Amino acid sequence: MQRGGCHCGAVRYEAGLLPERHSICCCKDCRRTAGAPMVAWAIYPKDAVTVTKGAPKSRASSEHAERFFCSECGTGLFYVSETYLPGKIDVASATLDEPELIGPPQAILQTAERVAWVADIHTLPQFPRQPGMD
Ligand SMILES: [Zn+2]
Ligand SMILES: [Zn+2]
Repeated sequence: MQRGGCHCGAVRYEAGLLPERHSICCCKDCRRTAGAPMVAWAIYPKDAVTVTKGAPKSRASSEHAERFFCSECGTGLFYVSETYLPGKIDVASATLDEPELIGPPQAILQTAERVAWVADIHTLPQFPRQPGMD
């Protein structure tokens, strides 16, 4: 069982299966709704994911898609589109309690809308913490 939830804990969910796919999306709607350059999504059959606490709020992020988020803390949680992903639910995999349990993403999607510098972030210097903090 994989469990996850929003930052404040008002919304919790669980998934009984491993996801069918795990990928990173760089589209503008993901960027704007997450406030982040990309979002990792794990896709499940809709009935495999159950909200166990709280009730996420939803909003149409485009004509055929709805995004669910915590109304208390704003964490983006789910994406649902009967047009693009019939019968499925996308879960923002970084909200899992143990994101590594489902394995790494297999693909990067919507690179046509990607912020250009995202392509090279693997070349940046990396620090285990904020530089200067131990
Ligand atoms: Zn919350
Ligand atoms: Zn996207």
